Amino acid sequence: MPWYKANFHCHSTNSDGHSSPLEVAEYYKAIGMDVVTVSDHNSLTALAEYAEALTGACIGIPCSEYTGAKCAHVLAVDVETAVGPARDQSDLGVVDILQDGVNRTLAAGGVPVLCHPGWYWTYDQVEILAVTRASHFEVFNSSPDCNSYPLVGRSAMEGIWDHVLSAGRRLFGTANDDAHWHTSPQSVGAGPNRFALGGTGWNVIKAPELTRAAIRSAFAAGHFYASTGVELSRYRVSADRIALSVRQASQEHMITEFYGEGGRLLDRQEGPEASYAIAGDEGYVRARVIDTNRWMAFTQPVFLETIEQDIAWTRE
Ligand SMILES: [Zn+2]
Ligand SMILES: [Zn+2]
Repeated sequence: MPWYKANFHCHSTNSDGHSSPLEVAEYYKAIGMDVVTVSDHNSLTALAEYAEALTGACIGIPCSEYTGAKCAHVLAVDVETAVGPARDQSDLGVVDILQDGVNRTLAAGGVPVLCHPGWYWTYDQVEILAVTRASHFEVFNSSPDCNSYPLVGRSAMEGIWDHVLSAGRRLFGTANDDAHWHTSPQSVGAGPNRFALGGTGWNVIKAPELTRAAIRSAFAAGHFYASTGVELSRYRVSADRIALSVRQASQEHMITEFYGEGGRLLDRQEGPEASYAIAGDEGYVRARVIDTNRWMAFTQPVFLETIEQDIAWTRE
């Protein structure tokens, strides 16, 4: 089954981005994204605004970013209407704001993704566990002040993820670039590292075909891994083993770490091939690859009590 690249979170001049929707879409198409979205704040940038870029092997999925108060944002993936707060939220806490974003996303028929918990350290596992019906969150967001990178071992966002998973909540981890820049930031004086450029975080989705319905349903079901540059050529889960292969871009070195319940480091292996033998007491197992370019990939947690037999994710 093929894998498709999708970034679900970025901005155009319809909100606070610096390129038009069509320029944004052309940018992603040029760098090889199969799925293009533009997710402006509290508004809907319709597919019609970038339809000219959606030719050949490239589709669009409309998204909207519910932009609540107190830096609490929720991405609404695959919606036909704008998703945003209905009133002033200065009296609400982060949990209530996130819950409103999830509720409004679901009411609009979308898949809710809790955005950038690490943006100014806005929320963590405590808030996520208090929010119901949230199925996805951003384990990685490229924007400044999102604190997505690890210092050593796991990133803080992975720490949040492991807390939530260990509490028994299934939560899928996504990577998005949240880019506001698809042109040179020099033109308006953004300083070094104070911007996220398009193409620095995305999801690789296993779907039977490149259609809006197939991509949405595979993404909703967690049939993807999140990437900031590490590309898997193989990912295979069987009843007793999880194995992956990394496509080496040039001469980078990489390490794969396998984590289980409680954030326990189960194993660490160097090189482009990694294989973990499931003991049965891990609760869940997820893998995180990091390389010497600081690129990463995050696989979704495999829950051992419901492990599907022989899930082959071999890349075609
Ligand atoms: Zn946001
Ligand atoms: Zn955003």
